[in-house]
Amino acid sequence: MFSPDILQKFQSNETPFYYYDLELLNNTLKACKTASDKYDFHVHYAFKANFNEEVLKAINAIGFGADCVSGNEVKKAIEVGFAPDKIVFAGVGKSDKEINEALDSNIFCFNVESIQELGIINELAVKKGKKAKIALRINPNVDAYTHHYITTGLEENKFGINQWELPTCAEALKHLPNLEFIGIHFHVGSQITNLDVFKSLCVKVNEIHNWFEERGFRLRILNVGGGLGVDYHHPDEKSIVDFEAYFKIFDQFIQRKAGQEVHFELGRALVAQCGSLISRVLYVKNGLKKNFVILDAGMTELMRPMLYQAYHKMENITQKAGETKIIKYDVVGPICESTDCFGKEVEFPESHRGDLIAIRTAGAYGEVMASGYNLRDRAKSVYNLKLS
Ligand SMILES: *Cc1c(COP(=O)(O)O)cnc(C)c1O
Repeated sequence: MFSPDILQKFQSNETPFYYYDLELLNNTLKACKTASDKYDFHVHYAFKANFNEEVLKAINAIGFGADCVSGNEVKKAIEVGFAPDKIVFAGVGKSDKEINEALDSNIFCFNVESIQELGIINELAVKKGKKAKIALRINPNVDAYTHHYITTGLEENKFGINQWELPTCAEALKHLPNLEFIGIHFHVGSQITNLDVFKSLCVKVNEIHNWFEERGFRLRILNVGGGLGVDYHHPDEKSIVDFEAYFKIFDQFIQRKAGQEVHFELGRALVAQCGSLISRVLYVKNGLKKNFVILDAGMTELMRPMLYQAYHKMENITQKAGETKIIKYDVVGPICESTDCFGKEVEFPESHRGDLIAIRTAGAYGEVMASGYNLRDRAKSVYNLKLS
């Protein structure tokens, strides 16, 4: 829902553009902070969901750490002001350059995804005379019941270390003196709305935690990753996720020992609802079998529908009251690819050239996945309030 003055502001901007409701973002961050503080949980923001500068500033201001998946994300986190001792670095293919830079920056922890990587980080740390803090990213083999393109926690996925490799890992760690093994890390997948998935994850975390304890390893950190989903169908009714219910699951089911910290890596749940892609109707094509609305935004601005068959609610925000004729449209972009379609057979009020269309819940994995394909201009960002 957009207020009249925001709609006014939209009129004067060149489309397409991303609109960020920083007030909603701040309220979401506060809700998450309050709920996580209640259980003494530590939250890291997953940078890859959105690294828009204003968004990052708001997240840093609330005091969350950073979860990075590339060397440049680590650099960006430090640039924006995140404390290095609150930065974790995951990724199945960290390059030597990225590892070296992260070692130089004294980040909090490397989340290590293979036995070979353990050896490489140790080797590079030896050369610098440093000790690298590491957590093992372990594949929990928990099904997230989401789209198969975005599950990460199954043994068939490329991410993490499988459970059958743990004995080899534990043995290797004894001979890698420049690594400090501080904990275990998991990430089941993304857009998880069934909280039972997180219960199953807790059971797995406890099991693996115990396995290490029995072998004399003391773990300081249990990092359970992210993946909490949002409601793409009801962006206004459920604009802030029920963080309390989410954290409560972990409080109930994770067995923490005294002094142990539980860490989270949330991306989507923090930023998805505050962003919308605002686009203009260029043309309307009425066919015999199909009607098309052709937008000035496409997969170059928002790729999720094309990449994961993801749903985004779309609204014609130019429609005046009383215009009630509903038509089924395929809403498509201008890019020279047949997959460049935001939605098929979408029920929409009759639309006209020049109407503004809001594609909602686009704050996560939207702007950050933009590309220059077809030599397209980069979409700008517009905010409802400017943070100092
Ligand atoms: C992407 C990612 C996250 C965040 O996932 P969301 O679904 O956005 O919460 C957390 N941890 C790791 C390791 C990731 O790759």
